[in-house]
Amino acid sequence: AAAAILARQATRESAARTYARSLPIVPTSATGSWITGADGRRYLDFLAGAGTLATGHNHPAVVASIERVLRSGAPLHVLDIATPQKDAFTEELANTLPVGLREDPKLLFCGPTGADAVEAALKLAYTVTGRQNVLAFTGAYHGMTAGALAVTGNVPVKEPLPTAASVVRLPFPYPYRCPFGVGGAASAEISAHYVEQLLDDPCGGITSPAAMILEVVQGEGGVVPAPDGWLRAMRELTSRRGIPLIVDEVQTGVGRTGTFWACERAGVVPDMLVMSKAIGGGLPLAVVAYRADLDVWAPGAHAGTFRGNQLAMAAGLATLRLVRDHGLSDRAGVVGDRLLAGLNHIARGTEIVGDVRGRGLMLGVEIVDPHREPDRTGARPPDATRAAAIRSACLDRGLIIELGGRHDAVLRLLPPLTITDDEADLALEILADAIALSGT
Ligand code: PMP
Repeated sequence: AAAAILARQATRESAARTYARSLPIVPTSATGSWITGADGRRYLDFLAGAGTLATGHNHPAVVASIERVLRSGAPLHVLDIATPQKDAFTEELANTLPVGLREDPKLLFCGPTGADAVEAALKLAYTVTGRQNVLAFTGAYHGMTAGALAVTGNVPVKEPLPTAASVVRLPFPYPYRCPFGVGGAASAEISAHYVEQLLDDPCGGITSPAAMILEVVQGEGGVVPAPDGWLRAMRELTSRRGIPLIVDEVQTGVGRTGTFWACERAGVVPDMLVMSKAIGGGLPLAVVAYRADLDVWAPGAHAGTFRGNQLAMAAGLATLRLVRDHGLSDRAGVVGDRLLAGLNHIARGTEIVGDVRGRGLMLGVEIVDPHREPDRTGARPPDATRAAAIRSACLDRGLIIELGGRHDAVLRLLPPLTITDDEADLALEILADAIALSGT
């Protein structure tokens, strides 16, 4: 049955499908960190809906929350009219926001994906400032709609599309493959100095920007955490120059990196915080939270039919409460450190792991070609073929992981925040096996 379903979908669905090609499984049920396929096989899920399922598959409290709304007779959709469900969700969400934004935030429901929320944040920044340039970073991923794609760094996916001329791209700190040599652009002072020079240079090709947009830990870009000092330097210079700072926490939010919002670790408070994925508890939901003084749009200035789905708010409410009540941010930090230690141990025994990095339960392992010479920073060339072989060997052994990074050579681990130590250890065992198999 599974093979027939896979074959039919491959015929019927657009070739633009992404995950279906790398994950030839047909999930029929799922619970906690585990997915069961139509063939009866169980898989440990270290992708978790691309980081969406903070509390794992079908957490009883999340399912109960959705069921309660369904059975209550409440309307499933009422545009963006007030409902008790929305009231409860917005109160809970507002309480999670970083201090400095929590006191008087405005919440804008977007409809209903991460890319939509990025679009809204950029548009609002254009309106607020009356300016046009946006500062974005190499390796950035913000979504696949036109505005979000313009600030995304991944050129191959946008080559055939008209590019937005108003984006100025800056180097994101990526110590392992730093274009300025070891420590170079990771250094807060050098980066901040470079941005300031660019903005002050009459021939720098940029006028005063409408916004700076960044991820605290780049996800699709290869799990690259920004150093705290660098984030603070970006915050300081954007504040001083009146440039709104948009922090995209679509992937890093809701406890994944060890704090509820990843920007909290550095003590950085964004002007706009973009959220999606885990805030909907597995159902589509996206919100931009911003300072009240940026709320300049007139009613209808940014409309949308599906904003704030009632069931997604129910699932999201239960998820936010679970993360809070069970200390899942802290837990992500602890089990993340366990995984990080295990991955570093694996790395010491092989030449094909170039770098291990990440925060909490957002971890990356960069696979390199041991037969090719390192560049002047000491990093060997990325090896996408070997990374794909490792992902496939993991799947054969019952572990689902994803690839990412500039060259698709980074193994990405994004398990639910509820994984047990035993599940973490099992994933490490499988990864060690799969890496050893691809290691020569
Ligand atoms: N921003 C970030 C940081 C993301 O990781 C993603 C999705 N991976 C998006 C935006 C886009 O979200 P969506 O796929 O829901 O449009």
